[in-house]
Amino acid sequence: MVLQDLGRRINGALTDLTRAPTLDEKAFDGMLKQIANALAEADVNIKLVANLRKTIKTSVKFSELPPHANKKRIIQKAVFDALVDIVNPHQKEYQPKKGKSNIIMFVGLQGAGKTTTCTKLARWYQARGFRTALVCADTFRAGAFDQLKQNATKAKIPYYGSLTQTDPVVVARDGVEKFKKEKFEIIIVDTSGRHQQEEALFGEMVEIQRAVQPHQTVMVLDASIGQAAEAQSRAFKETADFGAIIITKTDGAAAGGGAISAVAATGTPIVFIGTGEHLLDLEKFNPEGFVSKLLGMGDMQGLVEHVQSLKLDQKETMKNLTEGKFSVRDLRDQLQNIMKMGPLSKMAGMIPGLSGVMGGMDDEDGAAKLKRMVFICDSMTVKELDSDGKIFVEQPTRMTRVARGSGTSVREVEELLTQQRMMAGMAKKMKGGLAGMQKAQQGMQGAGRGQQMAAMQKRLAAMGAGGGGGAGGGGGGGMPDLGSLMKMMGGGGGGGGGGGMPDLSGMDMGKMMQMMGGMGGMGGGGGGGGRR
Ligand code: GDP
Ligand code: MG
Repeated sequence: MVLQDLGRRINGALTDLTRAPTLDEKAFDGMLKQIANALAEADVNIKLVANLRKTIKTSVKFSELPPHANKKRIIQKAVFDALVDIVNPHQKEYQPKKGKSNIIMFVGLQGAGKTTTCTKLARWYQARGFRTALVCADTFRAGAFDQLKQNATKAKIPYYGSLTQTDPVVVARDGVEKFKKEKFEIIIVDTSGRHQQEEALFGEMVEIQRAVQPHQTVMVLDASIGQAAEAQSRAFKETADFGAIIITKTDGAAAGGGAISAVAATGTPIVFIGTGEHLLDLEKFNPEGFVSKLLGMGDMQGLVEHVQSLKLDQKETMKNLTEGKFSVRDLRDQLQNIMKMGPLSKMAGMIPGLSGVMGGMDDEDGAAKLKRMVFICDSMTVKELDSDGKIFVEQPTRMTRVARGSGTSVREVEELLTQQRMMAGMAKKMKGGLAGMQKAQQGMQGAGRGQQMAAMQKRLAAMGAGGGGGAGGGGGGGMPDLGSLMKMMGGGGGGGGGGGMPDLSGMDMGKMMQMMGGMGGMGGGGGGGGRR
C-alpha cells in the first residue's frame, strides 16, 4: 500500500514541527494541517480527517502545556493515539472455540480476494491446531469451485463443493452440515460476488447466512477501491451485517485510506490483511502495530518473529559484542543476515525509523548496495576482516587494494569502514549491558543452549528494533543492531543511538523483554510501539 507514503508524510509533518525554530501553536496548527492533507490525499474520508484533527487538538491542549513539557513527545503520542483510534473500533472480534464447529462466512464483491483469502485463513487456523475445512458456495462464477479446489489441495485442507448443484444455498447448507457432522472446528464458507452491489447478490448472501448461521461473517475488501470502500462496506453491513473485515492487496499500489474509512464507517474491526497472492501472505492486523509501522516506528513483534524464523547464526557476533567488540567480519555477517531476510522493503517497514529512510530506495537498489558492501568485505584478507578496522587507517593503500579487488571505489570502502567504526564504538559502550544480559540468561532455569541462543537472537532483534531510534531521531539505547545498521546504510536520518543502555543485570527475562519492547516505543517517540 502506498500507506508508506502516508506514513512518510505524517512523519515529515512531525519532524518539521520539531525542527521549527519555535514550537508554538502556529507551528502545531501547521503540522495538523499537513497531516490532514496527507490523510485526505490517501483517500481517508474527509469527515474522519476533520475529526482526527479535532481529537489531536483537544488531547494536546497546546496553550495549556507547561513551558517545560516535552511538547514533541506529547504531540507525537497524540497523533499516534488518534490514528490508532481510527483503525480500532474497540469491537471485539469473534474468537473461535476449540472442540466445536465455528462457522465463518465470507462476503464481498467479485475479485475482492474472497476465495484466495478463505484458503489463507483456513491454513492460518489449521497451523494453530484447528481442524479446518472449506465450503465453496460460489455457483455463480464458472470455475469458482475449481479455483477453491486447487487452493485447498495445495494447502491440504478438506473442501466441499458441487459441479452440478446450482443453488448456492443448498451447497452451503450441505457442506456445512457434512463438516459439522465430521466435527470440523473451523468451517469457512466462500460465497460468490458480483461486479457490483446488486439486489441478487445481497439476496443470496442473506439466504446463505440464514441457512448456515455463521458465527462470524467476514467482509473482504480490496485495498485499491479507494473512496468507494465506505459506501460499499455500509451497504454490506446493512444487509449481511459482517463482524470483521479483511483487507486484501495491501501489497499493491493503492492509497489504502479508503479501507481505513471503511472501518470507521462500519465500526467493524480489521482482523487480517492480505499482503500477497501466496498462501502465507496473510497477517494478523493489530491497530498499534499498524500505526507504528505507518509512522516508521516499526512493527517490532513482527520483526522479532521474522528474525527468529530465519534462525540466523549470530553466535560469533554475540560473543564479540559481549566483549565490547565489533569487527569488520561482524559487519559482513550482519550484512549477509540482512540479505537473508528477504525483500528489503518488507523488512524496512518493520524496523523503526527505517521505512522513511528506505522509502525512496527500491528493493533492487537496496539489495545492490548490500551486495557491494559484502563484495568489499570479501576482498579483504582474514587479518583485515578480524580487525577493528584501524589497520586501514594505518595503511591506507589497503583500501585502494580492496576497492580494486571488489570493483568498488575507495569512497565506498571508506563508508563501510566508517559504519563498522560507529558500530564498534557502540559495542564498546554496550559491553556492560550485554554481559548482564548473558548472566541473567544463564540464570534461566532449564534452558538448553539452543534455547538460550534463540532467546539471545530474539533479544538482539528486539533491541535492534528499539535502538534504531524512531521518527525524528529519538534514539533509545544505542546498540549495534540490524535496525541502526540498516539505517546507517540507508544514509542516516535522525540521530539514533544516543543514550547508552540501561543496566540490565539482575532483571528477569520477562521484565527485560517488556522493557525492550517499551524502549522501541519510547525511541520511536510515539509511546506504545510494541504490541501487548
Ligand atoms: P474473489 O472473486 O473475491 O473470490 O477473489 P479471488 O480470491 O479470486 O482473487 C482475485 C485476485 O486477487 C486473484 O488474482 C488473487 O490472486 C488476487 N489477490 C487476492 N488477495 C491478494 C493479496 O493480498 N495481494 C495480491 N497481490 N493479490 C491478491
Ligand atoms: Mg471467488
